Amino acid sequence: MEKKIIKYSDLKKINDTYEPAVSDALRRVIDSGWYILGKEDKNFESEFASYCGTDYCIGVGNGLDALSLIFRAYIELGIMKKGDKVIVPANTYIASVLAISENDLIPVFVEPDPETQNIDPEKIKQAVTDEVKAILVVHLYGRICDMTPILKIADKYSLKIVEDCAQAHGALYRPFAGRESHEAGNCNVRSELDAFLMADNEENGAFEYSRRAGSIGDAAGFSFYPGKNLGALGDGGAVTTDNEELAQTIRMLSNYGSRKKYIHEYKGVNSRLDEMQAAVLSEKLKRIDEDNNRRVDIAERYYSEINNPQISLGKKAGKGENVYHIFPVFTERRDELQKYLLDNGVETLIHYPVPPHKQRAYKEYNHLSFPVAERLAQEELSIPLNISLSDDEITEIIKVINSFR
Ligand SMILES: *Cc1c(COP(=O)(O)O)cnc(C)c1O
Repeated sequence: MEKKIIKYSDLKKINDTYEPAVSDALRRVIDSGWYILGKEDKNFESEFASYCGTDYCIGVGNGLDALSLIFRAYIELGIMKKGDKVIVPANTYIASVLAISENDLIPVFVEPDPETQNIDPEKIKQAVTDEVKAILVVHLYGRICDMTPILKIADKYSLKIVEDCAQAHGALYRPFAGRESHEAGNCNVRSELDAFLMADNEENGAFEYSRRAGSIGDAAGFSFYPGKNLGALGDGGAVTTDNEELAQTIRMLSNYGSRKKYIHEYKGVNSRLDEMQAAVLSEKLKRIDEDNNRRVDIAERYYSEINNPQISLGKKAGKGENVYHIFPVFTERRDELQKYLLDNGVETLIHYPVPPHKQRAYKEYNHLSFPVAERLAQEELSIPLNISLSDDEITEIIKVINSFR
């Protein structure tokens, strides 16, 4: 009998778990006769803003546009200008970098911390110059970046922080995690910034003074590509921010530069979240925390049960700080491991085999060397982690990984 392969991801199986709610939502939109910029989009925007903890959410066509429109709006508002530099991790998905270069801004690649695979705040400090105007942080693989030092750097040099949240819907930033007491009165405030974050969170009574991905920087871009933790049935994206002027500008830019029909204030683009996708996302948003918790449970098992000395799992994130969009493992024998797993019925992917600065598309940067990012690209392997995997399948994945010699 042929052995059944455990797929890396099975979108059909995942989306079946939302039935019949998703089909009902689609039917509702079809029957409404209104397909672009209507009440589904409006509802989802307000639900998602409140989930993330921001004042505004603007639905757009995809994650790349979300990020790109943030920079475009900063340029239109005179806050940034063409030729300005933007710090970005050297080991991100290419969309992060495209959002910068699309706007004639210049990426400044910064190495990640190999243990967390997120941008290294110490190396951001070394990369800041007068020409740098923003930091694009990427909460890679679903794990929140080390934001406290990054917020301090941005504060000191007046840099904008844009968050790439495409992989991190719902991840928490918990500046006070691990302290003796989380009560405001007993909290030993380390700095003015901590005090500011705490005061801000006290007001909304958020869980242990935490903030969600998308509400930490000045603005954030999300993707709802089908495979993301919150995925549509097609392309979709959103910007979140507390800045009203920025929000209004992005809304106009995404709709032909127009606030009022047939009156155009900017040479905008067409990048909108359609009603079908918004309706689907509203249904799926109801279960995001539950879905993320299932991901965390699977990751916990991987951390406690994978014990192959040839394979490293990196440093585990604090509670809530990782929503495990991707579970990466690392080994010098990555290609052999990938083949071994497939031969034994476990499909895997690589995120990502070639870093942006080594792509032909960015040949002007091909001569640069980022040894940490380059090593991660050679050693990373993403093992299956999604809500449709059964406990038995997780057991099987662990068993096969542990038997690799
Ligand atoms: C998926 C992704 C994007 C782009 O999202 P799209 O919706 O595919 O345009 C951007 N950044 C990161 C880190 C991503 O994973």
